[in-house]
Amino acid sequence: MVSGLVAADGRVVRHGTRRVHGNDGPDAVLEVVVRSARECLADGPRRPAAIGIAVAAQVDPRSGTVVHAPNLGWRDVPLARQLADELGGPVTVVNDARAATAAEWRFGAGVGVDDLFYLSLGTGVGGSAVVGGRLLEGGSHALGEVGHLTVVAGGRRCHCPNVGCLEAYVGGWAIAERAREAAASDPPGGSGLSDLAGDRASITAETVFAGYRAGDRLATEIVRETVRILADGAVGIVNAFNPSLLAVGGGLVAGMPEFVPAIASAVGSRCQPPAAGVRVVPSSLGPSAPMVGAADVARRAPRLR
Ligand SMILES: [Zn+2]
Repeated sequence: MVSGLVAADGRVVRHGTRRVHGNDGPDAVLEVVVRSARECLADGPRRPAAIGIAVAAQVDPRSGTVVHAPNLGWRDVPLARQLADELGGPVTVVNDARAATAAEWRFGAGVGVDDLFYLSLGTGVGGSAVVGGRLLEGGSHALGEVGHLTVVAGGRRCHCPNVGCLEAYVGGWAIAERAREAAASDPPGGSGLSDLAGDRASITAETVFAGYRAGDRLATEIVRETVRILADGAVGIVNAFNPSLLAVGGGLVAGMPEFVPAIASAVGSRCQPPAAGVRVVPSSLGPSAPMVGAADVARRAPRLR
């Protein structure tokens, strides 16, 4: 979890990082959030202009409720209300991919662009769109959940109700799951990854990337399949949203920057001719993007005007 004090021009004045685990439950996570926010405010303004929080979840921005966070295992958590009580000010809750999109659009790779898609590749896969100079929300504030586009009919089970989702292959959890399964069905082939991780059950996406860099055969196969499926997904996204700019961010891109040119090459050769002209770039704000975007969205929230 990253927390920070963010200036109106998107500059991060102070920030801190803490490890939290979704399995600890909302109360334990909120306690850490509150402590970190107070630290960021020490020696700063006694009251910030706005408080924003980005979370990997479907959220209801009007009530600030986390409706469903599949990768945290949360449902109907009134995050804004609980945090407002603790921090003494109104809190805006925003989906993390939408927050990152806002940040890239206002301060990052998408400055001056009216049609932008931000694709977030992390533990989960998400995204959001700016179309005609407006950050889109959707009827229930869930627009852009491209991690749950079906890319393999009847394919792998996802953490959402669907099967064969993009995230079920290229999300960090899914890369790890595919690698553990492959190592289990081919123990000699999987021994390199198991050794790197300590044991087979501890293999993560980072282990796969490290194995790939070291020339491990199984890791290379998994990375290649991931690139293939990611390319299929990106082609669908660009055909559907027709952005002029596709910014790609998230923890997986930090570990495997090669994903970005692979996506660029696929969309350039396989999208409908006008849409294929999209520029594909890495996120310029990196891991700070959701935090900076949450601050910006909170600052612009209607009740503050
Ligand atoms: Zn899904």
